[in-house]
Amino acid sequence: MAPMDGGLERLYLARPRGFCAGVVMAIEAVERWAEVLKEEGDLVVYHEIVHNRSVVERLRAKGVRFVEDLAEVERLRQERKLAGTLVFSAHGHPPQVRRQAAAMGLNVLDATCPLVTKVHTEARRYAQEGYWILLIGDSADHQEVKGTFGEAPERTILVAVHTHVGKDPRLTDPHTVEVPDPERVVVLTQTTLSVDDTLATIEILKRRFPKLVVPKRKDLCYATQNRQEAVKRIAPHVDVFLVLTSPHSSNGMRLLELAQSLTGRAYRLETAQDLKEEWLWGAKSVGVTSAASTPEDLVQELVALLKAKNPGLEVLEEGEWEEIAFREPRPLSPGEVLSGA
Ligand code: SF4
Repeated sequence: MAPMDGGLERLYLARPRGFCAGVVMAIEAVERWAEVLKEEGDLVVYHEIVHNRSVVERLRAKGVRFVEDLAEVERLRQERKLAGTLVFSAHGHPPQVRRQAAAMGLNVLDATCPLVTKVHTEARRYAQEGYWILLIGDSADHQEVKGTFGEAPERTILVAVHTHVGKDPRLTDPHTVEVPDPERVVVLTQTTLSVDDTLATIEILKRRFPKLVVPKRKDLCYATQNRQEAVKRIAPHVDVFLVLTSPHSSNGMRLLELAQSLTGRAYRLETAQDLKEEWLWGAKSVGVTSAASTPEDLVQELVALLKAKNPGLEVLEEGEWEEIAFREPRPLSPGEVLSGA
């Protein structure tokens, strides 16, 4: 990276930022079980355990294998010794993947975030009660959307956030979406969307379907809400915002969009090495935040780089850390794998 102009005076670090309880739980489970099973062979994880390249690479270096399709497990088995255990990632998965794992005789450790599982449970319950489910998501390809949709595919309609209509043609415009029975319709959401845009989308749906049921405990997770609030607090004080996130992280990309809408100058980095000199030209103050799947050491590397290039840089950090922790997942019995309990 070329030298910066050294004109930065203040750095505002968002708090909270980075790892949420679901990500901590999932990573710790994979690390622990990779160690426990290492004599047996490599641990296999279905989908990236969390959407962050550094996390995935660090786990790969510890002998963890990642697959996007369970058919790959057979291929891997021929190449290397695998432990007979499969871990489901924090984002959740469709029930047919559980059934496939059971048919293959794999032991399963379900590291799905409990807040995602809550939405899956809602989808099953409302479908059983005869509701049509409008599922607001950011992409039909997102693992969490696939998982929730897969719980009741015959009764679920994917709906776009109103600001993202047309970005994924498989998601319906909330202004025009139709359901077979407007008297029995419920809205569920992906957990990691923009809070403001999701609430606005639900309002559009309420106008369209006056009997729309909105679950009391909204589906957007605490980590998503708190990280967006922290960006809103900092934005008025900064000229530029830097967001450390993978492009696949839904919550991280929503932080980037929010920072961009509030400051007009927001940039995405995966590591400090991605920083470009011109991003900070003329800026006196910079905000920094990170996605729920971005490790804190990547934030600290960026802070250290900015301090090295801007002698006297003042680092300001306000706000509360969260004190939420999820229980470590335990191996599921074959019955639990099939029932999704
Ligand atoms: Fe769970 Fe929210 Fe973290 Fe996703 S971002 S893993 S839903 S706490």
